[in-house]
Amino acid sequence: MRPLRKVLIANRGEIALRIVRACRELGIASVAVYSDADAQAPHVREADEAVHIGPAPAAESYLRGDHLIAVAKQLGADAIHPGYGFLSEREWFARAVCDAGLVWVGPPAEAIAAMGSKTAARTLAISAGTPVVPGTTEPLRDAAEAAEVAARFGYPVLLKAAAGGGGKGMRIVRGAGEIAGALAAAKRESQNAFGDDAVYVEKYIEGPRHIEIQVLADAYGNCVALGERECSIQRRHQKMIEEAPSTAVTAELRARMGAAAVAAARAAGYVNAGTCEFLLDRTGEFYFLEMNTRIQVEHPVTELVMGLDLVQWQLRIASGEQLPFTESPVPRGWAIECRITSEDPANGFLPSTGRIAHLHVPSGPGVRWDGGIEAGSVVGLSYDPMLAKLIVFDRTREAAIRRMERALRELVIDGVETSREFHLRVMADPEFRRGEISIQWLEAKLPELLARKAPPEAVRAAAIAAALLADRDRRARNGGGPRGDGGGASGGGTAPRAPVPAESSWARAARFDGLRSP
Ligand code: ADP
Repeated sequence: MRPLRKVLIANRGEIALRIVRACRELGIASVAVYSDADAQAPHVREADEAVHIGPAPAAESYLRGDHLIAVAKQLGADAIHPGYGFLSEREWFARAVCDAGLVWVGPPAEAIAAMGSKTAARTLAISAGTPVVPGTTEPLRDAAEAAEVAARFGYPVLLKAAAGGGGKGMRIVRGAGEIAGALAAAKRESQNAFGDDAVYVEKYIEGPRHIEIQVLADAYGNCVALGERECSIQRRHQKMIEEAPSTAVTAELRARMGAAAVAAARAAGYVNAGTCEFLLDRTGEFYFLEMNTRIQVEHPVTELVMGLDLVQWQLRIASGEQLPFTESPVPRGWAIECRITSEDPANGFLPSTGRIAHLHVPSGPGVRWDGGIEAGSVVGLSYDPMLAKLIVFDRTREAAIRRMERALRELVIDGVETSREFHLRVMADPEFRRGEISIQWLEAKLPELLARKAPPEAVRAAAIAAALLADRDRRARNGGGPRGDGGGASGGGTAPRAPVPAESSWARAARFDGLRSP
């Protein structure tokens, strides 16, 4: 045991705040770091200490590993938590943190390396007896070899970058005629994104679900699977909505997938929290895709159904604590997470920027908000567009969906376009409600979702907001201002008395409704 006293958080936004909270509950001091763009961010204010680390571009701030280590040493921190993204899966950074005499709140550098390339991870999984998607484990030499391998596995196939991540360097190939061009494109994209053009072949699985298994391993050889997360609601290979458990997973399948994930983690010498991603096909077969060697964005849904705190466990395992259980817990109830992003669904999910003028965060029974924003926050283009995660928990899936609808309706974010209304439309969709989803579902459904009418109450609220705004404009033109003192209606006729905010999100919800091309 080496109890942690002070942890530097090498991240920003909601996950930095999430880690500050876990530290505080464990009695560990936290050090936030921030770029110019984040000086006023909530994670900076909530941490016990905060250090400015550079300008907004991540390469000059959050990605400066050596500088982060120096800051940690200087402030007497004894550990670094990387969160997700940024430096969290860089083997060299994990190694450098340990070489500096600090504790790395994550898996050993060797485990990150073992799972770092998709081809290496596939080889490891095969050795552990974990099923992988049929395909190769060696990079392709040329188009001729690609054609030969694809013919062997049968079209369609997927060309994938060995160094891939975030869906980059992937190409579906449906016939021999397309393969040379697709290979060149995948190589080019991979070279640009990862500085590595190694590309291999996988069988393209039609209509599968993305199901991932959370694992937790301590330094004493205990490794436990914590059930599945259903992450099939994706757009361009990016997850948008996650839930736990999955309607497609029985207790028996959960046990088999859990055992496969634990076997892969053990083969990598895994310690700390990690996630094995699988595709589950329509026949119930599952295939290992990759292991994410860090905390996942969607970890809260597992926390809620399993009744444990994964970020606290990351810190406790890093300080040498042993897991108090060796059997997988049984999920209780249902949890759903919606990623609230500053993107405009009605406009091709174009990133939206601006200053958050007003924020009303949902609350009430079973509602959790993991956010990195507040009123006054400026949303720019330097970082990921995810502003917050809205997570709900209830006894059944149907109840959780209704709770999510209720919470989304309470949410007000004024100043930037967000994915809020999009999530309401998914929640209302009959196929989604029946759990009839796959990784291709959302993209196929999107035109229909975007064309649908806004919920009636949104239209009504928008009409009221529009009337209030028109009235405010009329008063402004007449030289009068809005009145908030309830001082009677003399001269104002039937005009409303309350001051009117800038265009409300309800008004935006109505504008979203058919006024723009998808
Ligand atoms: P990345 O690391 O770039 O996110 P993944 O291997 O995790 O790449 O795949 C991302 C997504 O692409 C998966 O969630 C799934 O939606 C889809 N995908 C990956 N491999 C296959 C496959 N063999 N067949 C069908 N879809 C796939």
